[in-house]
Amino acid sequence: MPIRLQSDISGVVLVFLVVCFCSRLIAQQRTGFKPFEPPISFAEADRRAEAILSGLSLKEKVRMIGGQNLFFIQGFESHHIPQFYLSDATQGVHIRTELSRHLEKSTAFPCPLALAATWNPELAHTYARSIGEECRAGDIAVLLGPGMNIYRISQNGRNFEYFGEDPFLAARMIEHYVTGVQSTGTIATLKHFLCNNTENHRRRTNSIVDERTLHEIYLPAFKAGIDAGAMAVMTSYNQVNGEYAGQSEYVINHLLRKDLGFRWLVMSDWWSTWDPVKTIHSGLDLEMPGHAIDRIPQLKAFGDIYVKTAALRLIREGKVSEADINRMAKSIIRTTIAMGLYDRPVKDETYLDQFPAHEQTALQTARESIVLLRNERGLLPLNPSAVKRLLLTGDYVDVLARGRGSAEVEGYNRVTMLEAFTREFGGAVTFRKNPSDAEIRDADVVIVSIGTDDREGVDRPFAYPEETDSHILHICAKNPNVVVIVNAGGGVQMTKWNEKVAAILYAWYPGQNGNKALAEILSGKTNPSGKLPITIEKRFEDSPGYPYLPQGEGLSDRQGGDMDMSLPISDITYKEGVFVGYRWYESRKIVPLYPFGFGLSYTTFAYSNLKISPSTLKKGGALTVDFTVRNGGKTPGAEIAQLYVQDITASVPRPVKELKGFQKVALAPNAVTRVRLTLTERDLAFWDAKTHDWLAEGGKFAILVGASSDDIRLRAHVVLE
Ligand code: BGC
Repeated sequence: MPIRLQSDISGVVLVFLVVCFCSRLIAQQRTGFKPFEPPISFAEADRRAEAILSGLSLKEKVRMIGGQNLFFIQGFESHHIPQFYLSDATQGVHIRTELSRHLEKSTAFPCPLALAATWNPELAHTYARSIGEECRAGDIAVLLGPGMNIYRISQNGRNFEYFGEDPFLAARMIEHYVTGVQSTGTIATLKHFLCNNTENHRRRTNSIVDERTLHEIYLPAFKAGIDAGAMAVMTSYNQVNGEYAGQSEYVINHLLRKDLGFRWLVMSDWWSTWDPVKTIHSGLDLEMPGHAIDRIPQLKAFGDIYVKTAALRLIREGKVSEADINRMAKSIIRTTIAMGLYDRPVKDETYLDQFPAHEQTALQTARESIVLLRNERGLLPLNPSAVKRLLLTGDYVDVLARGRGSAEVEGYNRVTMLEAFTREFGGAVTFRKNPSDAEIRDADVVIVSIGTDDREGVDRPFAYPEETDSHILHICAKNPNVVVIVNAGGGVQMTKWNEKVAAILYAWYPGQNGNKALAEILSGKTNPSGKLPITIEKRFEDSPGYPYLPQGEGLSDRQGGDMDMSLPISDITYKEGVFVGYRWYESRKIVPLYPFGFGLSYTTFAYSNLKISPSTLKKGGALTVDFTVRNGGKTPGAEIAQLYVQDITASVPRPVKELKGFQKVALAPNAVTRVRLTLTERDLAFWDAKTHDWLAEGGKFAILVGASSDDIRLRAHVVLE
C-alpha cells in the first residue's frame, strides 16, 4: 500500500484564525476607507512656508531645490529649517550605513508583488505602517515608496517592487499602503511617475502611450495614492511621449497636478533630468540627488545640468525667474511642515519595540501571498510523520532569494528554506545541490527551489536557463512527487515542466521569514490563499508588451552602463493600449499558463445566489452585488472572490472584463458567508479621449463573479440608463 504523504489538517486552525481576523477587516475595503489627513492643513502650512521663504536669500532657496549628500533635503539651522533624510523603499527600509547610522536593522518583508498576491488591503496597511515605524526609528522623514508601475512586461527587472497588472487591485492596495506609512508621520512617495514599465536602458527609452490608456491603466494606482493623501511623488527615468518625465510639463503640471489633483512634493528620480530650464518649468519641486558624484564619471560629462548649480545663471539669462525657484522651495517646505516635521523630531526610538510585531507582519504577509498553482493528486499538504525522505534541491534552498537594487533589504533573523523545512519535517530533510539518481528515486517527495535574481537597472529573461529546465525534467523522470517552489519577482516560463511536476508553489520574494510560511503550507498548518496579481504567459511572445527591445538587440546586461546616454533613444509603443495583462490575453483569445486572479487552496469554495440591486442603474447611482460563498471542503481556508464587469456594447473597443471589486473571506469547513460589493457608474466607465473625461455609456453590462479572471461562477446583467 502506498504511504499516505498527505497531511491531515489539524494544525490549520491557528493560522486560519489570524486570516479570519485580517479578512473581517477588509470587508470594509471601499466603504470604510479613510484617507490620510496631514496634521497641518495645506493652507496653514502654506502660510508658514511663505513666512520662512521670505527670510531666505535667493542663493539659499536655490540650494533647497536640489538634494544634498545624495539622500537629504537641504536644511538651514539658522532659519530653523531641518535637514531630512529620504530612504528606500517599498518592501522595507534599505539601510545605507555610509549615510545614516540611525538604524541597525530593518525587516525584510515579502516583496510588494507578493503583498498584491494577498489581495488584502488591510494587510497592506499594516505592512506599510510597520515600514513607516521603522522609518521613525531610523530618523527617516520620507520613504521613497511605494512603487506602483503596472506589470506590462514579465521581464521588467523591477516588477517585484510593484503591485501587478491590474489597476483596480493595485489602487486598492496602494491607498491602504499610503495611509499605513503616513499614519506614522512618515511621508510616502508614489513612484515612478510615469510609464516606467521596463528597466532595459531605462534612461534611453520613450514610452509612447495614448491618453485613454494612461487614464485606464497607468494612472489609477497613482490617483488612488493621491486620493489617499500621499504627500510625495517621484518621477521616472524614461521619456513619456517624447520628453523625460522629470522635466515634462505634460507629465507633472498637466497629468499629475491638474488631472490627478496632486498638491504636494514632486521629486525626480536620481539623475533623471537633463535640461534645468525645462525641469524648473515642469512643475517639479526637488531634483534628486541634485549634483554629480565622482563614482559615476559620466555624470560630469553632462555639464551644468543641475538646477541647483544652474539656477542663478538661468535667472541672469532671463530663462527662469525667482518666482519659479520660490514655487519649488515653497512646495518642499510646505509639504514637510504639513506632515508636522518642523514641530517634532523625526526620530522616535520607541518604535524599536515594534520590531517583533513587524516580523509577524512579514510572516503573515508571506502566508497570505504564496500561490498554489498546481497540486496534482492532492499531493500537498504533506504529512510530516509520513514523509521519511524529503529531498531539497535547487538554487534557493540555503540562500534567500530577494530583489536587488535600491529596494533591496537585507533583513535579520533570516530563515533559509533548509532551516524552515528541517524545523517542520525534522530528520526527513536532506539537501543536495546535485542529487544522484538514486537519491531522487528514493525520496518520498523532491522539492526543487528555483528562482530569479530580479534587480533594478536590468530586465531578465522570461525563460529559465536550459540547465534549470532540464534539471527539473530529469528529476520528474525519476520521481512522480516533485514540488517546484518559484522565488521570483514576476512571471517566469514554466511551460516545459508545468505538466510534469506534481505541485507548484509561487513564493515570489517572501522576505526574511517567508520560508517559515512555505514550510507551514507544505505541512498543511497554513492553507494557501494567495492569488496571482499577474497573468503568467506560456511564452513571452504571447504577452502584450512583446516585442519591446530595439530591433536586433538582446537584453542589456548593464555592461554598457545604466548611464550610457550615448545610446539612441528607443521608442516603446504601448500599442496594446488598454489591453494589458488579462485584458490582452482575453481579447486576443490567447490562453495563458495561469490566469490573473488564480490560486488553489486545500479546500474548495462554492459560489451561489447572486443578487444585484437595483437591476437598473441610474446616472450617479450605485449597485450592490451580493452573493454567497461556501467552503465545501474539509479544511478551513480563505477565498478571494472577484467581481468583474463587462460592457456588452460599447462605442470603443473594451476589455472582455475588468476587475471592479474583490473580497477575501475566511471560512471554516461548511461555513457560508454573504459577500456584498458595490459598483458605481464610474466602475462601468471608460476614458473618453474626445471629452477628456470618464464616460459610462447607457446599455447592458454583465456582472461576473468568480474565483479568478478565468473562472467565473455567477453572472447577471444590469442596465445603465
Ligand atoms: C531608483 C528609485 C530610488 C532612487 C534612490 C533610483 O535609482 O529608481 O526608485 O528611490 O534610486 O535610491
